Amino acid sequence: MATFGNLSDRLAETFKNLRTKGKLSAADVDGTVREIRRALLDADVALEVVKDFTGKVRERALGDEVSKALNPAQQVVQIVNEELIQILGGQQRRLEFAKKPPTIIMLAGLQGAGKTTLAGKLAKWLAKDGHTPILVAADLQRPNAVTQLEVVGAQAGVPVYAPEPGNGVGNPVKVARDGVKFAQQKLHDVVIVDTAGRLGVDAEMMKQAADIRKAIDPDEVLFVIDAMIGQDAVATARAFQDGVDFTGVVLSKLDGDARGGAALSVASITGRPIMFASTGEGLEDFEPFHPDRMASRILD
Ligand code: GDP
Repeated sequence: MATFGNLSDRLAETFKNLRTKGKLSAADVDGTVREIRRALLDADVALEVVKDFTGKVRERALGDEVSKALNPAQQVVQIVNEELIQILGGQQRRLEFAKKPPTIIMLAGLQGAGKTTLAGKLAKWLAKDGHTPILVAADLQRPNAVTQLEVVGAQAGVPVYAPEPGNGVGNPVKVARDGVKFAQQKLHDVVIVDTAGRLGVDAEMMKQAADIRKAIDPDEVLFVIDAMIGQDAVATARAFQDGVDFTGVVLSKLDGDARGGAALSVASITGRPIMFASTGEGLEDFEPFHPDRMASRILD
């Protein structure tokens, strides 16, 4: 994954140096941990996550499991792998479907994060799996957002509920509520509600998202975050956690060239699992997120 290219190379180099050693001294461990720390910070991983991560790796690397290991260097790599899986959320977390359909999924995030694109990707993926999703255009902030969702819906081959002119225009809470009602009437089993974002965290936007959440009581609230957001990831994720209390994270633009530290920070900062990854502009560029696979890619 391009986003982690540099981090991967740095870690590979660190482990290569480690492998030339037989038994590991405390100084070897400290040197290795220092290099890992630098590589993570240079990848824009949040400081508190880096500290926590390297603290755990160091403690384990100085312990029995390494000193008694046949191949201590290999054991350290294994520890890094395990701890990386932990900061990425541990187990894979799947979508939770409502016992009584429709399952309501609300999307939240900054403008440009990739929400509308994700709505199409998710709908297509669900439809392929036998579901009958519908998209609801409750982003009334951006002039083109409703049209954009209609285009995405057409590409994905799923219907879109959009406000009729004069009926709820300008009132995203009403549109969201009506959209869910419409989905119930038409027996769609999943409703995906797109909401408005702003370029930065904004009290009015957050209140609107919170009001929509209250009105439709979603089963899942997915926070979409651009993996290239860099050090702003922590503040943005916390603001959305406080504002809408999301249930899962979607990382978008993992195909980018920038440093993917956001990806490595958000799950452990918020305690919410990363559920999906978006890896391009096309509707197929999307996959469920597996912490263990991501850790392997980074350490490959
Ligand atoms: P929204 O404002 O949150 O609804 O964001 P959009 O869905 O409109 O996406 C903003 C821009 O990012 C669009 O040009 C998308 O094509 C692009 N985009 C969305 N997801 C991805 C992704 O995973 N990778 C790349 N490279 N571009 C993406």
